[in-house]
This record gives sequence, C-alpha cells and structure tokens, in this order.
Amino acid sequence: ACEAAGVGPGSEVLVPSPTFTATAEVVEYLGGTVRLVDVDPTTGLLTPDLLTQALDAHPSISCVMPVHFAGDACQMLGTEQDPGIVTICQSRGISIVEDAAHAFPASYADGKPVGSPIGTTACCFSFYANKTITTGEGGMVTTNDDAIAERMRRMRLHGIDRSAWDRHTRIGAAWEYDVIAAGYKYNLTDIAAAIGIAQLERAEEFKDARARLVEAYRERLSRIDALRLPPGHQTSS
Ligand SMILES: *Cc1c(COP(=O)(O)O)cnc(C)c1O
Repeated sequence: ACEAAGVGPGSEVLVPSPTFTATAEVVEYLGGTVRLVDVDPTTGLLTPDLLTQALDAHPSISCVMPVHFAGDACQMLGTEQDPGIVTICQSRGISIVEDAAHAFPASYADGKPVGSPIGTTACCFSFYANKTITTGEGGMVTTNDDAIAERMRRMRLHGIDRSAWDRHTRIGAAWEYDVIAAGYKYNLTDIAAAIGIAQLERAEEFKDARARLVEAYRERLSRIDALRLPPGHQTSS
C-alpha cells in the first residue's frame, strides 16, 4: 500500500510511536524516512491536533499512517470546525495509509466499518495468528482507488500483470504474461483465504468475547485507585 501510495527514497512518513514495528519498517524498506509522532496518552490514538502539530513541524511529510489501536479507530472524520485526520491530510495533499491490524471488525465514528471508503489511499488489515480474525498468516487491503488497487495487485505477485488463476481458468486466456515491475511475494494464498472466509463468519462472536474480557478487566482494575484506565472502547459497546 505504501509503495502504491508513492512512498520511496526521500519520502517522509508520519508513524505513531506506539505501534508494532511493521508500520515503521515498511517505510525503511522503501527508502523513506520515518517521523514518529506521539499519541493521546489515554486512548493510544493519533489525534487531529497531534497530527497538525507534527505536519507543521515537518512540512515535507508526504504520507501518514494512522494506527487504529486496540479496536478503536482514530478520528478520521470530522466537521468543518473540528476537522478529522482525512480532511487535514487532504488539504495538504498528503496520502493516508491506515494501519487497521487491530481493527477488524471496528467502526469509524459515523458507524461505518473501518476500511470503508473515507478518502484514504488504502486501509491495511492483518490476519496474523494473534489478530482479531486469522488466516494463520496474511492480511487484506481495502481501497476505493482503481489505480492503487491495480498497482497493489501487480506488486503483491512479482509485478506480473496477470495471476496464474486468470491465465489458467479464463476461457481463451493466453498463457503469456508480462512482468511490469520488480514486485514482491506478498499474496495471500487461496488456502489462507478459505480459512479467512470461515473466520469471517465468527468475527462478531470473537469481538463480543474480547469485549467481555475488556469489561472483566475494567471492572476489577477500576477498584485500584492508583490506576487511570483508558476510556471505554467505542467499538465494544
Ligand atoms: C500485527 C500488526 C502489524 C503487522 O501485521 P503482519 O500481518 O504481521 O504483517 C502491523 N501493525 C500493527 C499495529 C500490528 O499489530
């Protein structure tokens, strides 16, 4: 997604400091520079105010990677008086690649599922073994931009312009293909996708189970005066 968003040598990319290493390492792979930004200490989320401060301090930033932390979405949407992350980035011509590894299934403030088209370049989910649903290994990207989708489809499979599935199943399809770029080997396997379809049916059940655990911890920890607990998750109610 970052490659399709144009991150490359010389790019500066804003990444929240409390995240998994993957969010920052991908910027390094592509030859870009990571700029770290602090988050709200109670929610763990990048806020529109912190974003604006960081962009003012580093005007060369060309891409932002908000992390929807622990099932809560960042404030992507806003109002004219109180703009969200999307509006702030759009007004400065900055692309957004969402890290939604913790956010399936979760919702933005308006109730739409995380990954819906809200004006970001792409939204990335992880289905690694410890995530909210799993395919053992792998993930998913959503985008509403045809050019970004096409670039990601090609680059995930060695920069080949057509998948083996298309070459061998479409009636009359030719066997040839072209390699149009030096791509990666980042495709989800069909076997993993089959596991994902079965996991998908249980996504809400898994979410409810996590919400019950959150409540159990919250109830017991709230008895300890010395602790300040994070605010309730919007998505667990
Ligand atoms: C797990 C995780 C990732 C990476 O996911 P992989 O599927 O292991 O590449 C990225 N960001 C966050 C916040 C994560 O928790």
